[in-house]
Amino acid sequence: MKQQRKSDNTTGNPAPAEKEFENKLRPAGFDDFSGQQKIVDNLKIFIAAAKKRGESLDHVLLTGPPGLGKTTLSFIIANEMGTEIKITSGPVLDKPADLAGILTNLNEGDVLFIDEIHRVNAVVEEYLYSAMEDFRLDIMIDSGPSARSIQLSLPRFTLVGATTRAGLLTAPLRARFGITNRLDYYTPEVLFGIIVRSAVILGIEIDKEGAHEIAKRSRGTPRIANRLLKRCRDFAEADARLTHHRGTITKEVAQHALKALEVDEHGLDEMDKRLLRTIIEKYRGGPVGLSTLAVAVGEEAGTIEEVYEPYLILEGFLQRTPRGREATDLAYKHFGTTRTASAQDSLF
Ligand code: ADP
Repeated sequence: MKQQRKSDNTTGNPAPAEKEFENKLRPAGFDDFSGQQKIVDNLKIFIAAAKKRGESLDHVLLTGPPGLGKTTLSFIIANEMGTEIKITSGPVLDKPADLAGILTNLNEGDVLFIDEIHRVNAVVEEYLYSAMEDFRLDIMIDSGPSARSIQLSLPRFTLVGATTRAGLLTAPLRARFGITNRLDYYTPEVLFGIIVRSAVILGIEIDKEGAHEIAKRSRGTPRIANRLLKRCRDFAEADARLTHHRGTITKEVAQHALKALEVDEHGLDEMDKRLLRTIIEKYRGGPVGLSTLAVAVGEEAGTIEEVYEPYLILEGFLQRTPRGREATDLAYKHFGTTRTASAQDSLF
């Protein structure tokens, strides 16, 4: 149970009210989708080619940390293909019948989006194989002596699978995706554009410096950028100390709000900080093995490796060495501590 909760947290999936907010900001086509240029360019070609041949698009696997646009891209794929999208997620597909129910309701060319596909259970996954490959489902009905199998043929659909934990996918499932893409963190410049676009949609006043400030601190993630934009608006509108900004998110308003929200200069989240502090304080800056680190911070090793670490490495806070994880000088600087001091501390 504990394990389950941990996985839920790391998906970063928003609460229902937040989902509505996200849907409002979700780009409907490639034109509004910023960044991930290579992925977008390739998808455009695959979609155009499939349409030209009058076929459904090959199955697509989207991997990468939460909030980078996996769901958004799957909506865009359906839009661009001119088909419908049905959405479900790994943990919801508990029994083969759940899968059969969804698959038999699809129309030719539809997109089936399975979020957290690494959490589909092994039995359902077996059924998925023939559905993906041969567009066919062999379902057992009844049990015992009267058990028999019936074969259902399915419309040619496109499965878009999304996962934050690509390492947990089985090889046979992974092999059934014709198109595989890993989404990367966004640069502050691209996030700046996303924030400005969201501000226009939501009717929020923000100036250039204000948007830059939020972009810098959004952990390379559009979902976080949009959330911070919303919170900064609250401060701009309701904090009496900021009334002279007349409701506009300026640099000063953004800095004030982000400080109050405890979002640091680099947008590191709680787990990022816990990881770095643990390496610095408990292991003298490392190297420390991944599994040891996982126990020390109370998180799964795979989640650290696939969800948290990539950003810390990208930003230069963490290094992967053959002997384990090491905190860099930048990490020490970030926490206002020095390497020698922590080494001496640990002697006592
Ligand atoms: P994921 O499925 O990877 O967790 P989502 O697709 O749900 O992430 O994206 C989270 C939010 O970020 C959505 O509100 C979406 O509008 C926004 N978003 C994600 N990627 C982009 C992008 N490239 N351009 C603009 N907005 C984006």
